[in-house]
Amino acid sequence: ELHYQPIVRLADARVAGMEALLRWQHPERGLVVPGDFIPFTEETGLIVPIGRWVLREACRQAAVVQRMLPDGPELYMCVNLSVKQLQHSDVVADVQDALSESGLPPNLLTLEITESMLIDDPEIAVVKLNELRALGVRIAMDDFGTGYSSLSYLSRFPVDIIKMDRSFLRPQPSREALDLSSAVVALGSSLALDVVAEGIELDEQLRRLRDLGCEFGQGFHFARPMGSGDLGDYLEGMLQEAVMPSGEPRPVPRDGA
Ligand code: C2E
Ligand code: MG
Ligand code: MG
Repeated sequence: ELHYQPIVRLADARVAGMEALLRWQHPERGLVVPGDFIPFTEETGLIVPIGRWVLREACRQAAVVQRMLPDGPELYMCVNLSVKQLQHSDVVADVQDALSESGLPPNLLTLEITESMLIDDPEIAVVKLNELRALGVRIAMDDFGTGYSSLSYLSRFPVDIIKMDRSFLRPQPSREALDLSSAVVALGSSLALDVVAEGIELDEQLRRLRDLGCEFGQGFHFARPMGSGDLGDYLEGMLQEAVMPSGEPRPVPRDGA
């Protein structure tokens, strides 16, 4: 099943979009997180049909959200792609099918890739990413800053969004760590890319990012990933608050609750 985590504008904490995160509802083990099963689905190739399902389900859900909030902001949906989808499947046709089936406007879909996906076969990756972009979807570089060729990848691949890895947000960061996160934000602004800071948990991290001029963020501080029912409640609460600010903090649904 898919859970969804809001991505917010840091200036006012308003939702701008959400990321679809896969979970496996296991009969004995309960809710299993992707780190515990995605590697095996990649080894077996099962990730290709699963990834196709994720695309369709996330687009369907994003279109439901759009219909639910006709007067609200246009929220975009982020979907993580696996290297196997980029290498061994017709991911362009899969994305096209997911969009046309759901009626979701392509500009409201963002596909997240990581640098490590680009290493093995950069030529094929650049062709596929350009084809995907030609559909009108956006491409985000996930976990940015954890690989080692970030800068060359940003110039070679069609990328619209940088998702700054949460390792940049360690509490009590060193001077170097602060300078690095500031450099990532500056890089985004000079290349006209949106920057989303991942893993914001603390008020202090939020303040630091705002000071740096980072525009978007995602993390437990705002909301944990939640099921589609909780997402509906969360977004409706958000919209009501925009009309009539209550001042009361909203209860944050817990993952899997
Ligand atoms: P990711 O794409 O970087 O997703 C963000 C991860 O950070 C999620 O973990 C999310 O729950 C977690 N996170 C968000 N805010 C915070 C925070 O404030 N603090 C901390 N400590 N963590 C936070 P999750 O859901 O376990 O997903 C892990 C990874 O699995 C994802 O990293 C992504 O690479 C992969 N993944 C998830 N869903 C899919 C999918 O549908 N397809 C593929 N191929 N990979 C997926
Ligand atoms: Mg991601
Ligand atoms: Mg990430």
